[in-house]
Amino acid sequence: MSEQWTFYFEPDKCIGCHACSVACDVQNDRVDDDNWRELRHEPTGSFPDYEETAVSTACFHCGDAPCEKVCPTGAITKRDSDGIVTVDQDKCIGCHYCGWACPYGAPTYDPDNDGKMSKCHLCLGEGEGDGHGKPPREKPEEGGNTPNCVDNCVTDALHAGPVSEMMELASEAAVKRFVNGSRRALVEPVEPDSGGD
Ligand code: SF4
Ligand code: SF4
Ligand code: SF4
Repeated sequence: MSEQWTFYFEPDKCIGCHACSVACDVQNDRVDDDNWRELRHEPTGSFPDYEETAVSTACFHCGDAPCEKVCPTGAITKRDSDGIVTVDQDKCIGCHYCGWACPYGAPTYDPDNDGKMSKCHLCLGEGEGDGHGKPPREKPEEGGNTPNCVDNCVTDALHAGPVSEMMELASEAAVKRFVNGSRRALVEPVEPDSGGD
């Protein structure tokens, strides 16, 4: 596999505007369906010291994907080219196993699509292996775009790219947090072939 692609999200920059999830809905025709990208508001403390942190999440394209392991039809594959986990719509029988196996609830049920499951394909997965029949979207280094959620993030809180580049961004952000006295200054090392953001 060439290098695994992944998302990197910076909660300190996120203002909870939902532009990322709306951009995903528009790009992937999901305005009337369950979101592939979710904007969650995680609460901490209680009144009067109550705070919420906005967290933007989608499929993490796991290195060792539990959804792929349980799929009885081989509809879910992790692409050799970039590690993107795709659901082949031609093979999916809508059994829900992937949705139950995923610890993040990323696969969504599509009642208008013969009850099949679908999820984020990083906008780069529209090609071989996902059954959508669209031509592959080019990667940025080939003149293409980054995923639509990243393109439309208004504060540059959301990024996508090879794991090594995302780790560089995460390390730089951790240094800034350390210098600014924030307690969230740790960056965990990742295995070279692991997914996640
Ligand atoms: S986050 Fe869920 S749907 Fe995505 S690869 Fe991992 S187990 Fe599969
Ligand atoms: S719902 Fe579809 S993709 Fe998910 S486990 Fe069943 S056949 Fe595989
Ligand atoms: S578009 Fe960016 S700033 Fe707005 S909710 Fe999404 S990640 Fe946060």
